Amino acid sequence: FEVGHALEDLAIRWLRLAGFELYTRRADGEQFGFSVAGGRIQGHVDGILAAGPADIELAYPALWECKTMNDKSWRETVKQGVTRAKPIYAAQIAVYQAYMEGAVPGIASNPALFTAINKDSEEIWFERVPFDGGLAQRMSDRAVRVITATEAGELLPRHATTPTHVTCKSCPWQDRCWGSA
Ligand code: SF4
Repeated sequence: FEVGHALEDLAIRWLRLAGFELYTRRADGEQFGFSVAGGRIQGHVDGILAAGPADIELAYPALWECKTMNDKSWRETVKQGVTRAKPIYAAQIAVYQAYMEGAVPGIASNPALFTAINKDSEEIWFERVPFDGGLAQRMSDRAVRVITATEAGELLPRHATTPTHVTCKSCPWQDRCWGSA
């Protein structure tokens, strides 16, 4: 995790050196983010690009999202694009764009800049990700469904039938989810 943070800090520095006006903190020092539904839906964005070099085709303001990946994941992302290779990241980007629009008008109209850093080789991938309003709405509806079910004491069906499913193996809630099964 520390390597990931160190690489992200380097990416911030490199983007600024390249001429991008990148903000990662608000004036009060806090990260940019949003909190809705009484704090039960919230997120922090890696950064917001306010301007950049004239020869780079990007409209501003733009959401900046940075991920570090192992070589296999990074190559898949480069080959297929983030939306196909990493749909969870694409969903995160769409939701962040939608929820940040109130505080940063225009961020949901402009494509986000996604950056993926290869943890094994330090290669960097940049990708423009157009706003997908339908995806943001589906993810938001899903979050509301989880909150509503939880408040009603309803146990939603699991995503998989076995705790050894590939998604469950890396899920932070695996112990809690399967503990009583
Ligand atoms: S372990 Fe995680 S991914 Fe798997 S069913 Fe439970 S909550 Fe869903």
